[in-house]
Amino acid sequence: MAKVIAITNQKGGVGKTTTTVDLGAALSREKKKVLLVDFDPQGNLTSGLGIERKRPLTVLHMLQNEVAEVEYDVHDTIAKHETDEVNLDILPANKLLVTAETLFQSVEEDKELVLKKVLSQVKDEYDYILIDCPPSLSMLTINALGAADSVLIPVQPTKYSLDGLADLVKLVMVAQKSYNKDLDFEGIVYTLDTPTQVETRNIKQDVENAYGANIRIHDVTIPRLKDISSSPSYGVSVFDLAPTSNGALAYAKLAREVLENG
Ligand code: ADP
Ligand code: MG
Repeated sequence: MAKVIAITNQKGGVGKTTTTVDLGAALSREKKKVLLVDFDPQGNLTSGLGIERKRPLTVLHMLQNEVAEVEYDVHDTIAKHETDEVNLDILPANKLLVTAETLFQSVEEDKELVLKKVLSQVKDEYDYILIDCPPSLSMLTINALGAADSVLIPVQPTKYSLDGLADLVKLVMVAQKSYNKDLDFEGIVYTLDTPTQVETRNIKQDVENAYGANIRIHDVTIPRLKDISSSPSYGVSVFDLAPTSNGALAYAKLAREVLENG
């Protein structure tokens, strides 16, 4: 049975998609069977792995079928990224996923749990399912929280990184109280990190003071590196592009911390 991790932060550009792909790739290298779910209408995960034209079906079709109570098979939608280094399955998305917002509103009961029901078809087949969330606290994110066992929050340690974090933490607490009682925090992971800057260190201290008591802050941090930002241009993960780089090393360490967390 897969552990489902929602990778979420309503700030854009903090490394959610990158973390989904590269953590997924790192887990795959640890011999885990991994499914990545693109749950952002921007479809960056789908295009970043070069699979948008390989699959006409997207996660939106699965949500629509689930709501319409039509018979469907999630496997028809799953695309593959297979290289020497990694082996990933992907449930793709495109910009039409924005229409899921109105779709969810039309559901009378358990509108937070539509994605969970879709993923239940394949949950047995994977060790990890990682959901790449949109940069908003929308019904898409709420459905990701409804489907998840834990929440991983990438945080870029810059001046405004604490803004909005409280709202996200509250949204998770609401999920825990109502529609997903078993939801846990996987942790906070620093991304696009510039550890030598004094400002960065001060911000990390602020995050630690505000959340350290309740949310695990991962020891490993993901440095800002060209190897990491370049890989989507080649349609690959950092492990395909630069398997021995510090970027690959950092995501491999994060994978080990996630594995240790069970
Ligand atoms: P989000 O999904 O939160 O919007 P992305 O993963 O798309 O964020 O990252 C935003 C931008 O930053 C992308 O251009 C990405 O390639 C780049 N990026 C992400 N992580 C790193 C990193 N560790 N080092 C350098 N560039 C990064
Ligand atoms: Mg993204």
